[in-house]
Amino acid sequence: MAKLIDGRAIAAEIRKEIAEETAVFKGENGYAPGLAVVIVGEDPASKVYVRNKHRACEEVGFYSEGYELPADTDEATLLALIERLNRDDRIHGILVQLPLPKHLDEEKILLAIDPAKDVDAFHPYNVGRIMIGNYDFLPCTPAGVMQLLKRSGVEIEGKECVVVGRSNIVGKPQALLLLEANGTVTVCHSRTKDLRDVCRRADILVAAIGKPEFFDASYVKEGAVVIDVGMNRRPSDGKLCGDVDFASVEPVASMITPVPGGVGPMTITMLMKNTFTAAGKQGARVK
Ligand code: NDP
Repeated sequence: MAKLIDGRAIAAEIRKEIAEETAVFKGENGYAPGLAVVIVGEDPASKVYVRNKHRACEEVGFYSEGYELPADTDEATLLALIERLNRDDRIHGILVQLPLPKHLDEEKILLAIDPAKDVDAFHPYNVGRIMIGNYDFLPCTPAGVMQLLKRSGVEIEGKECVVVGRSNIVGKPQALLLLEANGTVTVCHSRTKDLRDVCRRADILVAAIGKPEFFDASYVKEGAVVIDVGMNRRPSDGKLCGDVDFASVEPVASMITPVPGGVGPMTITMLMKNTFTAAGKQGARVK
């Protein structure tokens, strides 16, 4: 039976730490770290994420602003808002909720965010800094996975780590972070041959493909640590599920993250961490 990696408990522990650090920061600086969240359009899932981000800001004592723009907002209006937030001293982190409506050029919008306020770490400047291991911010989901491993006492050094998925926001940065932690890393994707065999080599398996309950026990080595990044709706009942077939894998793995309650709660928590870091850096820059 695998030990459950409790993402809710670990996220709560980190938020408590951030709240304590924020109280000290406010005492020393006279202002709170500030996050602006911008959403364009009416996507219900995005609206839930945005609401949760504001709640998390309140919990840790941050200042936050929300901008809900109509779906037909033009590029110039959105760019002007970002430019204003770039110059606003109360705002240390800017997050533009993705996906944006089709008529907006996501790359152009993300490039407009001041890299010092890019708390999602999606700007090419920050991506480049992660590549060379000299960064201020890490993308929230892979950073959350690293915290789950660290705080669960999982040794990474020298371990076979297999990441399935190579997206810019999860798979690729996840592989880099495991490499930085001295894992021996293999990255798999939709063209990987013999995926099952590669996965069965893993001491640490990170599943991030977006396919409901794809990985059953036949993909998992006895005693492996299994991290399930997937957030999917199960076709049979519409409930939230991961990329891992939990019932099948749990008896084989040594540790496993549930969905929900595993990686999910860590993502917003790491956004808080990045915003706190951004506030510290910008404060230092001003003084
Ligand atoms: P993307 O769709 O951007 O990327 C999916 C990746 O998985 C691609 O690299 C793709 O390969 C690969 N892939 C797809 N099918 C297979 C397959 N059958 N075998 C092997 N590889 C496959 O997804 P994201 O990275 O954005 O997200 C992945 C999952 O993580 C989703 O379920 C998403 O909802 C979830 N997620 C969860 C978060 C959280 O907070 N918990 C945050 C972000 C994402 P190829 O490149 O060849 O197409």
